[in-house]
Amino acid sequence: MSSAASLLQGQGSHRTTAPVAGLPPELLKRRAGQRRQMLAVQGVSYSLITSVLLVYCYAGTVPMNIPSAYFLSGIGLVSVFVVLSEAHFNDRFEDHYLTIFQVAAHVALQLCFLLAAPQIGFAFLSVVFLIFGFGALRMTSRQAIITWTLTMIGLAPIFLFSSTPIGLPITTQTERVAAMLSFVLTIGQCAFVGLYGSTMRKMLYDRSFELKAAYKRIEELAELDELTGSSNRRSIMRMLEEEIARASRSGSPCSIALIDLDWFKRINDAYGHPTGDEVLRTFSITMFANIRSIDRFGRYGGEEFLLVLPDMGVCQATQALDRLRAIVADLDWSAFSPGMKVTMSAGVATLHPNETSDTFLARADSALYAAKAQGRNRITSA
Ligand code: GH3
Ligand code: MG
Ligand code: MG
Repeated sequence: MSSAASLLQGQGSHRTTAPVAGLPPELLKRRAGQRRQMLAVQGVSYSLITSVLLVYCYAGTVPMNIPSAYFLSGIGLVSVFVVLSEAHFNDRFEDHYLTIFQVAAHVALQLCFLLAAPQIGFAFLSVVFLIFGFGALRMTSRQAIITWTLTMIGLAPIFLFSSTPIGLPITTQTERVAAMLSFVLTIGQCAFVGLYGSTMRKMLYDRSFELKAAYKRIEELAELDELTGSSNRRSIMRMLEEEIARASRSGSPCSIALIDLDWFKRINDAYGHPTGDEVLRTFSITMFANIRSIDRFGRYGGEEFLLVLPDMGVCQATQALDRLRAIVADLDWSAFSPGMKVTMSAGVATLHPNETSDTFLARADSALYAAKAQGRNRITSA
């Protein structure tokens, strides 16, 4: 069976089978649900066409055994696919709808009835259109070519090598009603297929939109420091490189400040690590609230932060940092614990021509070291 399947699907060994065991149960359940929906639609479709055949039977155009046989064989065929689907036979194939088998089987059934009741042949031929309409929703172009060729092979002897007339009888009023019903139902079902296709397309479009938004959020999160919400080290280093390149290109100044919280170990020891975390968060928010939108601020490591100040020379940068230092020192930290004081020290450096980020940072670090050595809660420039 599987070799016949691969032959019919025309998809070499790489596309034929996917063992049920390899698929997660939720996926199998979702696929089975989708197939149930599709098979239910087929069942309804056969019932509707049978109702048209019953009108022809009432008109005396065909004997009663035509609608009965059509209904039984149509529903029988759908039932075979229901059984296969519920037994998860379909899940062995990449195309779990078994589209090519379904299209081939249903088209073959219509051709049989075209031979059995050629006097109302147009009714069965219009069902062939419907089958292709439904099938096209799932078919690959290769599958479409195979099914189209098979249908052509089926239709050729009927049209070319037999003289049986294929009818669209509209002699009596009842026959006219039946013909009209047949067209109306076929057109209605075609519209349903089109609508279904466009709904699927819209769903896919919406899903791709959601995925894009989620991907953007993941990217943003990958750039942020979890604790403080500021840029993480990787990200602030990238921004520093970008600003260095921009300043070198434009000849505009660029300064940086390495900021370190003073006596932070003592804060942790005195108030606990979780309070220390809160201090880091509050410090970060305070920085963001008081820097320009073009400034870049990120966590360099531990309680050390890097501030990149584009278009700022050393004097301006030192002044800006001193303002930030004063804001932090004057902040009311007593909400964390009565009597708590937090201060920061920073080393400021301004980019030299052709300087790399390494030496730029090293100069800021030396300035920070000097600020600490001079007693902390101060700004020193390199
Ligand atoms: P100074 O910089 O003024 O010389 O003194 P310090 O006490 O701040 O010195 P040091 O840089 O050696 O200590 C930094 C401390 O910051 C040590 C570490 O426990 C603490 N720390 C680093 N990362 C975190 C963190 O994410 N949360 C908390 N609560 N503490 C942190
Ligand atoms: Mg420190
Ligand atoms: Mg430190």
